[in-house]
This record gives sequence, structure tokens and C-alpha cells, in this order.
Amino acid sequence: MAPYGSDSTKIFHPPELVVLPSSVEQVCQIVKLAYGLRFPVVCRGGGSGFAGGAVPVSGGVVISMEKMNRIIEVNPDGYSAIVEPGVITQDLTLEVEKQGLTYPPEPSSRDVSTIGGNLAHNSGGLKSRKYGVTKDYLLGIELVTGRGETLRTGCLSDDEDFCDLTSIIAGSEGTLGIVTKIALRLVRKPKTVSTILVTYDEPLKAAKTIAEINTSGLSPTILEYIDVDTMNCILEKFDFPFFKRGDSAVLVELDGNAKQVRSDTHQIERISRNYSPSFYRQTNSEQTREKLWDVRRSISPALEELFLIKISEDVCVPPSKLPELVERIRRLGAKYDLKIASFGHAGDGNLHVNFLTNRDTAAQRRKIKRAVGELFDMTLALRGTISGEHGVGISKRKYFKKQIRPAELKLMKSLKSAFDPRGILNPGKIWEE
Ligand SMILES: Cc1cc2nc3c(=O)[nH]c(=O)nc-3n(C[C@H](O)[C@H](O)[C@H](O)COP(=O)(O)OP(=O)(O)OC[C@H]3O[C@@H](n4cnc5c(N)ncnc54)[C@H](O)[C@@H]3O)c2cc1C
Repeated sequence: MAPYGSDSTKIFHPPELVVLPSSVEQVCQIVKLAYGLRFPVVCRGGGSGFAGGAVPVSGGVVISMEKMNRIIEVNPDGYSAIVEPGVITQDLTLEVEKQGLTYPPEPSSRDVSTIGGNLAHNSGGLKSRKYGVTKDYLLGIELVTGRGETLRTGCLSDDEDFCDLTSIIAGSEGTLGIVTKIALRLVRKPKTVSTILVTYDEPLKAAKTIAEINTSGLSPTILEYIDVDTMNCILEKFDFPFFKRGDSAVLVELDGNAKQVRSDTHQIERISRNYSPSFYRQTNSEQTREKLWDVRRSISPALEELFLIKISEDVCVPPSKLPELVERIRRLGAKYDLKIASFGHAGDGNLHVNFLTNRDTAAQRRKIKRAVGELFDMTLALRGTISGEHGVGISKRKYFKKQIRPAELKLMKSLKSAFDPRGILNPGKIWEE
């Protein structure tokens, strides 16, 4: 059972039992039993979460979705698909691409995360700047509530909905129900794609480029930031000719019709060159593009390998505040004498901030904890949010209450007890101590 007691946080609580259902009926049976006997039920997808959401902190039963992994149908004419929640995100992407379609909100963990986990965290990814996050692709959900009853929403429901509950379930982190089937919207794969890599010798120049692109009226598919500490770490792991030690990078991708993509590419070049880049390269080559995104997706696992401790946070501020956030993170690192590597979906104001050390001592852990608290405080002061896409789980419980008003919390609690009256679904998460 050990592999089911943890996720990417490495926080470990062993489950008392692990079950691997293969149908919605079996999930209902388990939850009905849990409702009757009042034991905790924690649903698990790929276990790649960064907030401890799938960790059974109160013991009980872990329901792993690994056997409910069928792509039930892909409908190219209706631009839609129906899947079971245990489908690995990349498997769906590869399947729909055979039909000229694409599923844009896939996270960088697409080779291990599941569609059910993506839904439960309302995950985003590289392409969220233009295409949005998981909830923007949900057409309907089948869910087993905390009473063991089946609920169907959106296009999976036979009834006319009074109000569509689909988006309430998105991002609820397994606390409102166990998702057993998902209907998804797909889009046509774009014909023309232009990818741009720009590097700067100062992080602030990169942050300002991103801020200007964000206010230019352009709509890049991808707008990513890699800071200097991340860059130096990448170069310890990869031989990537376009990156140089000491630089920060801005990665941009545009897609659409050829004329528009050409004109937008020129605008991005003009904005980037205003801030004196040390390197600029544009490509239409699919091979170079895939290599670049593979390197980008490998950043998190690479940092994991390089450092004994890696605490990954995921804050989000209004995009116009990004330069200020970058500068404040730099000062935070200096204040605590800590290596802090930041990268991420800066086009959405969403940065993955990684606190890194190779000294695993109690004092060092306390120091990181204090620095993380300050990161959240400064994010909230910039009118941001403590989680862009990784969820709250157990690791951000303490700060969640700082972010929302008591009236909102009260409403969320009533919603929780309507879906899960005995509090058996993923207890100890989000706001529960
Ligand atoms: C290298 C790396 C890169 C990452 N990049 C991104 C990124 O770009 N964007 C992003 O958003 N996240 C990213 N993540 C975080 C993580 O991969 C996502 O949050 C992902 O959506 C989690 O999916 P999972 O299947 O692994 O879920 P798990 O970790 O197994 O579970 C996450 C939560 O979902 C709940 N859950 C799972 N399945 C169900 C279900 N069927 N019904 C109800 N609740 C369920 C669990 O109870 C838990 O609360 C990354 C993680 C890693 C390790």
C-alpha cells in the first residue's frame, strides 16, 4: 500500500486499504459502505499532485482510478470525447491527435497525471494563456456523491439542469464526489505554429517583456518564463544549445492562420528586442519546438533530482504585477539566503516557485517554511492567489483561510455538506485541519 500513501509532495500517510474499482457501480458500493460505517475515502489519479490532495491523511480507503482508464469515445464531428477518469492525459492527447484534434489544457505532468486528477485540480498547462484550463473543456461529469449516489451533469445528464453543477465540481479536489466519467470538449489542431525563444541577462527584462506582451492585445498560445536559477539548474541536466548560464528566458508560441501568426510573430520580436535580449530565435520547425517543450516539461523533475529538498509552490498574480512579484521573490531569496528557482505560465501571472536546498536539517526546513509563508503573504498583497493550478490539498490549508472571506467559506462548507453530509470524502483537506 506504500505507493498509495503519497504524491509529489512526498508527504506520507499510509492508507488502511486500497481498492481498484473498474466501474461506477463498484465506486457506489464502496462509498455507500463508507457512508454507513463512516470511514474516509480518498480518490487517487496519477498521484502527481503538488499539494498532498491524494494523500490519505486521515487513513481510510484509497480509491485508485487506474483501472477506470478507457477512452470511451472520440467524436471528431462533435469535437468531443467521453473518458473514464483514470485515462492518462497524454494518452488522450495522442488519441485525439490521430483525428486532427487536440486537448489543450494538458499539464506538464501529462505523462503521469490523469484526466480525473486534472479535473479535480482544475489543472492548466503551457497553453492555458490562450486556451484556458480544464474547466473550460468540461461538457459533463458523472460523479458519485458522499452518499454513494450517482449524479450526472451537463451533456451526461438526461434532465434539463436547473443549474449546471459541472464547474462547481471542477477544482473541488475530491472533496465533493468521486468522478467516474467525463465528457470533454476538443479543438481542431492548429495549422500554423510559430515558436520563439528569447533570453536576457537580467530577470527583470524578461518579466517586463512578458508584461508588455500581456498588455499588447496579442493572444499567444504559450507565454512562459524561466528565471536565472532555473536556467542554471537546467544546464546541469540538459545539453540545450539555446540556453546560457546566467540568463533568464521567455518562451512564446503563437498559433492560428498563417498571416496572423506571421504578423503576431513580428510584434513579439519588436517587443522582445526593446529589452535588449542576449539571444532571439524564432522557429516553425516542429522538431525544435518539441525539443524546447520537452526541456520545459522536464524542469520540475530535473530540480527534483538535483536537490534533496524541493518545495514547489504555485502562486498567481494579475499578469501586470509579474515584474513586481519577480523582484520580490529575488529579495525573499536574499533575505533568507535560499535558492529559489521560479518558472511557469507567466502569461497568466502564474509562477512555480521552488525552494531548493541540499541541506536537509530542521533549521533549513523551518527557514523554508517561513519563506513560503512570506511568499503567500506577498502574493495576496499583490491581489493574487496562493494556487494557480496545483490546488490547496494539505500543504496550503493554513493559507487558504487568509485568501477567502468568511462568507465564502461558509457557503463552501454548506456545499460540501450537501454533497458529502458525513464528511467522508477526502477529509482533512483545503480548510479542514
Ligand atoms: C513534473 C510535474 C509537472 C506538473 N505540471 C503541472 C502543470 O503544468 N499544470 C498543473 O495544473 N499541474 C501540474 N502538476 C501537478 C499535477 O500533475 C496536477 O495537479 C494533476 O492534475 C494531478 O493529476 P493526478 O491524476 O496525478 O491527481 P492526483 O495527484 O492523484 O490527485 C489530485 C487530486 O485529485 C483528486 N482526484 C483524483 N482523481 C479523482 C477523481 N476521479 N474524482 C475525484 N477526485 C479525484 C485527488 O483526491 C486529489 O485531491 C505537475 C506535477 C508534476 C509532478
